[in-house]
Amino acid sequence: MRSRIVRASDRPTKQAPGDKFIGVVWQDQIFVPEDPSRLRVTRVSFTPGARTNWHTHAVGQILYVLTGTGRYQLEGDVVQELLPGDTVIIPANARHWHGASPDHLMVHLALSESNDKGESTEWLEPVSDADYSASAVSDT
Ligand code: MN
Repeated sequence: MRSRIVRASDRPTKQAPGDKFIGVVWQDQIFVPEDPSRLRVTRVSFTPGARTNWHTHAVGQILYVLTGTGRYQLEGDVVQELLPGDTVIIPANARHWHGASPDHLMVHLALSESNDKGESTEWLEPVSDADYSASAVSDT
């Protein structure tokens, strides 16, 4: 890792892969792991109705909501509404998904690390419309 400024102009926005997300999702890399750091930081912009597949993170994940209205569900728990300024703390190896609400964009920072084996995210099946549409609650 060396001192430098990575310019936004050198990092085009990329569309998230359709085998891991439903709907249109845009990803902006903020930091890609460089030894000795294992941190990865991405800004993820979900269009209305878009969401991740179910997935797990080997060392957990932190989400920080920047704008819009979103949804988060830990498997076995209710769907939670996400609002700007919310921080979501996701434990290691916990099945979950996150995304926009049906009628609004949602943009979050996603922070995660790989483990000693280099493992980070394991991608699973898409989130069904029934799971996605379960009414979101905003009080925890
Ligand atoms: Mn996640």
